[in-house]
Amino acid sequence: MSHMKIFTYPEPVLKKNAEPVKNIDEELQEIIDQMLETMYAAPGIGLAANQVGVLKRVIVFDGSPREEGANPQILINPEIVAAEGSIKWDEACLSVPDFTAEVNRNANIQVKGLDRNGKPLELEAKDLLAVCLQHEIDHLDGILFIDRISRLKRALYKKKLKKMEKGKSSK
Ligand SMILES: [Zn+2]
Repeated sequence: MSHMKIFTYPEPVLKKNAEPVKNIDEELQEIIDQMLETMYAAPGIGLAANQVGVLKRVIVFDGSPREEGANPQILINPEIVAAEGSIKWDEACLSVPDFTAEVNRNANIQVKGLDRNGKPLELEAKDLLAVCLQHEIDHLDGILFIDRISRLKRALYKKKLKKMEKGKSSK
């Protein structure tokens, strides 16, 4: 099994809307396995299909503490059905390297979707897991966490990015 390439900002695929999954077939199972491998190898606690260039509404995540071992979770066609409270979290993203910023999210959410076998699934999440799920579902709608921060902070990131690009090309 191979790792997938993780696309980074400003790659256009990150700005696109992912399509709902209609067929849960072998091909999709393979994508899910590769996404999980890629997430754990990164390492990250969540990955949306857009990030590996697949425009299907699939997210994988694992918010459990490392010492408890891996607990891979998959949601197909995830949808937030209820949300309340607010929480500020310092977010990072595998598609936005070397940058973190505080983002406002709902503190408690209820999400529904399908598991990897197509069985309906509903789950409640709070704190880190709630933040992670909102972040990943945003990806499926073409939204990055830097779209949810102030224009000033976003400008800082773009500046930093330009500097990093320059550094690369002068080598
Ligand atoms: Zn992300």
